[in-house]
Amino acid sequence: MSHSQRSDIFLLDADRTTWHDETLWFVRQKRDKAVYALPEFQDLRELASQIKNHTLSKLDFYLAQFEEAAKRNGVQVHWAADAAEHNSIVLGLIKKHGATRVVKSKSMLTEECHLNPHLIKNGIEVIDTDLGERIIQMREEAPSHVVLPAIHLKKEDVGDTFHIHLGTAKGNNDPQQLTEAARQHLREKFLAGEVAISGVNFAIAETGSVVVCTNEGNADLGVNLAKVHIACMGMEKLIPRLSDLSVFTRVLTRSATGQPVTTYTSHFTKPAPGKEMHIVIVDNGRTKQLGRPDFRASLKCIRCGACMNTCPVYRRSGGHSYDFTIPGPIGAILSPNIDMRKHASLPFASTLCGSCTDVCPVKIDIHTQLYKWRQVLAAEGEIPASKKWSMRLLSSVLSRPGMYGLGGKVARQGLRFLPHGLTHAKGYNPWAIARELPEPPKQSFREWYAQQQKNS
Ligand code: SF4
Repeated sequence: MSHSQRSDIFLLDADRTTWHDETLWFVRQKRDKAVYALPEFQDLRELASQIKNHTLSKLDFYLAQFEEAAKRNGVQVHWAADAAEHNSIVLGLIKKHGATRVVKSKSMLTEECHLNPHLIKNGIEVIDTDLGERIIQMREEAPSHVVLPAIHLKKEDVGDTFHIHLGTAKGNNDPQQLTEAARQHLREKFLAGEVAISGVNFAIAETGSVVVCTNEGNADLGVNLAKVHIACMGMEKLIPRLSDLSVFTRVLTRSATGQPVTTYTSHFTKPAPGKEMHIVIVDNGRTKQLGRPDFRASLKCIRCGACMNTCPVYRRSGGHSYDFTIPGPIGAILSPNIDMRKHASLPFASTLCGSCTDVCPVKIDIHTQLYKWRQVLAAEGEIPASKKWSMRLLSSVLSRPGMYGLGGKVARQGLRFLPHGLTHAKGYNPWAIARELPEPPKQSFREWYAQQQKNS
């Protein structure tokens, strides 16, 4: 299915669509307040963008520096070319320690690699410890947002889920009581966890440490209680120096949720005595994206989610309509790089209004890249035949003024007499599903202009 077909499913529930739209707009407004309260925000944005540009231009150097520093700290570093290799490294490490219970904090990379199903298939219990992630894990759903994975759910949905899985009272939708139930449930899992898996927000090349930002402290609890810590990171997570970090921590949470800073910003540099720490560095298509000059900047993304919160298409179509781990405008740029055919409709899921580009804290030219992807997809023959032929027809009409004038005349007359059921037929005019056409004018602008010229 295309993005618009999947959106149709989301849009069937009109109340939920409105609620989803308004909730994300509320988050966007919180972001605006936090940003305007910081006079130097635009300078930080520029600096963040330049640091990322620089790092990507010397990625091979910084990756080697990071590996060397991490090894010096006693951390074991692994390299994975793709999702399958990543999953097999992680499973191998768990098995090597004879472990069967894993706690995992939020990591979009492990979602991207489909790590959970791989571990479960191999007899490992894996528990997501971020509250939003745990809710969707119980429901066997994918995250619908990079920062707010369960944003598509209402508290009533969570109440029903916890009633089924945690035995809370039926109809109990009180957020405080539900959170308490989740806390009790997760506490047991934390204490039983033998291996802790975490994502990585930033990896610092000069120190070899990884930085994980959470609001719940779940990564810290998991890592400190387990014997083995496996940190999984995409190779684009690097920043050169420790002193660069504050630039990103200051823009990340303000852009994500409007908070001045995340509740926990934890640095993991070396294993505690008697424990092991591993870092798995994953490519999975990133080198390919780095090699595409038009799309390279998408690797600067720090996964704040601001482009999703502001996007009018995302807010009204929901994260699942993208059918890709990273939804929204940035996902629509990253996904065709992984599978051009499967995700060909995503770069078209945008009004190209540019709001995503305006809010991006690392200045990714998101809407320009979406427009570029459309051109690439058309050149590669990855757009539907109906779109291809209608664009060809339109191009030949628009390049012939006589034909354009005649076409306009026929349409103006035709629209007066054609039955509504025909002009608004769902099958070939999806534009008209939720819109009415204006009354056709009696004359075109050109005709009106020529008449005015004559009269004067
Ligand atoms: S593209 Fe920019 S705005 Fe969107 S998630 Fe990434 S950093 Fe945030």
